[in-house]
Amino acid sequence: MPLTTLALTAELPELGESLAWSQLEAWAVAMREELPAAALAAALEDLQDRLIDQVCGPKWLPVRDLPAPFGCPGCGVMDDFARKGKRTRLRRFDTAAGIVQIRLANVGCRSCGRVFAPLLLMLDLSGKRRTDRLMIELAELASQMSFARAGAVAASFGVPGSAGRAHSAVADLAPLLDGVGRPEVPGAPTGADVVILDGTGMRAGRRRLGVDCNLALGLTSRGGPRRRRSAGTVLLGLTLQQPWSAMAAQLRALDAPAVVVVDGEIAITTLAETVWPDVPIQRCWWHLPRALRWALYADKAPHPWSNAKRTELVALLRRVAREHLTHGQALAAYDAFTATITAEGHHAAGEVLTGAREQVFTCLRPVLRARLAHLGGPELGSGVLERVMRELNARTDIGGSRWSVDGLRDLITVQLARMTNHPAWTTLRQSLRPPNAIAFNITTAKFNAG
Ligand SMILES: [Zn+2]
Repeated sequence: MPLTTLALTAELPELGESLAWSQLEAWAVAMREELPAAALAAALEDLQDRLIDQVCGPKWLPVRDLPAPFGCPGCGVMDDFARKGKRTRLRRFDTAAGIVQIRLANVGCRSCGRVFAPLLLMLDLSGKRRTDRLMIELAELASQMSFARAGAVAASFGVPGSAGRAHSAVADLAPLLDGVGRPEVPGAPTGADVVILDGTGMRAGRRRLGVDCNLALGLTSRGGPRRRRSAGTVLLGLTLQQPWSAMAAQLRALDAPAVVVVDGEIAITTLAETVWPDVPIQRCWWHLPRALRWALYADKAPHPWSNAKRTELVALLRRVAREHLTHGQALAAYDAFTATITAEGHHAAGEVLTGAREQVFTCLRPVLRARLAHLGGPELGSGVLERVMRELNARTDIGGSRWSVDGLRDLITVQLARMTNHPAWTTLRQSLRPPNAIAFNITTAKFNAG
C-alpha cells in the first residue's frame, strides 16, 4: 500500500531559555486541536492526487479512455475523464476530528462535459458540510448536558462545536433512530418480561403545566456471572403531549410481558388492563413510598414523622426482597405498616396503601416469581426507572428553559436511545464509529540532518 507521510515542524526554544513546562504542554494541547484535521486534510489530498493520476494519466501526459472507480454524475460512464484543475476555494468539512479544509480537484467527463470532484463522490461526501460521525458525537454529548456546554466540551477537543451545532445534531439524529418507541419497525425490541409504564411532566409547549412524557420501559435479563446478573432496559414506547391511551397501539405491537408495572395512576392501569387483560399488574416500588409521602402531606401529618414513614416503607420493601418473604408474609408486614398509618387517622395515606395492597406484591406470587427469577429479584426495575426518570428530568430541566414539543421529542429520543442502548442507536453508532483499521506509525526519524 502506498505510504502517506506527514511532516511536523515546531520552533522549540532551547531548554533553559525561559521555556516552562506549561508552554510545552500548551503546545501539545494546541496540536491536539489542530493536528488530526490537518493530517486528515493532507491524507485526503494525497488520495485525491493518486486518484486523478490513475484516472487521467500523468499531469503532462494525459491518457485517453482510462477506466475510473466512479461514474460520471451526469451520464454514468466510468471511463475517459480529463483533468480540470483544482478549485480555488478550499472546501470545508466539519468532522469529528476537527475542521478539515481541502482543495478539491475536478475532472471533466469527455462524454457529456460534466465537471465534478471525484473525491467527494467516492467518499459519499457530496453536499455534506458536516459528517455523520460529528453529528452523533455532538448529539451524544447534548443528550447529557446543555447544548451550550456540549458545544464547549466538543470545542475544547478541537471538534467544531457550539450550542447551535449541538442543537441541530440532536434534531438531525433523532429521525435516524428509527424504531425508538416504535416496536413495529424491524429490529426494534419486540417486548420484555417486565414492562414499566411511567410518565413525567416536562416544561414544553404553550400550556403552563407543560406536557406529559409517557414511557414504556422493558426489563430483560442481560448476561453476566450467576448471582450477579443484571437487568437490561429497553425502550418500548414513548409519547409526548398525548394521553396514555395513545400508547395502546405501540404496546399492542409487543409480545405480552409476564408482568406490567404501574405507578397507580388510573389512566395507566386502565391502559395496561385494556392492552393486556391477562397480564398481572404490579405496583411500582419506587412510586409507592413517594405516593405515601404526598398523601401524608395532604393529610397534614407532621413532616419528620411522614419522612420516617416513607423510609420505613422503603425498608419494608427492601426487606421483603432481601429475605425472600412469601406473598403472605409480605402482606402481613404491609398490613402491620398500614395499621400504623391509619391508627393516626391519616385518611389519604391509608387509602394509598389499601388501594395498592392488591398489586404491591404481585411479583411474589410463586408462578410469577419463578418466571422472573432470571431478572435477579422482585425489585422489578424500580432502580432502573428511578435512574431513567432522574436523568431525563435532569437534562430537560437545565436552565429552566421551555422546550418546543418537537425539540423535546428529539432530545428525549436521543437520550433514551443512548441510555437504554436501543438497537437503532447501537447500529448507528457502530456504523458511524467503526474501529480504526488504518495502520500508522509515529516515527522519531530526524529529518533535519544539518
Ligand atoms: Zn458524463
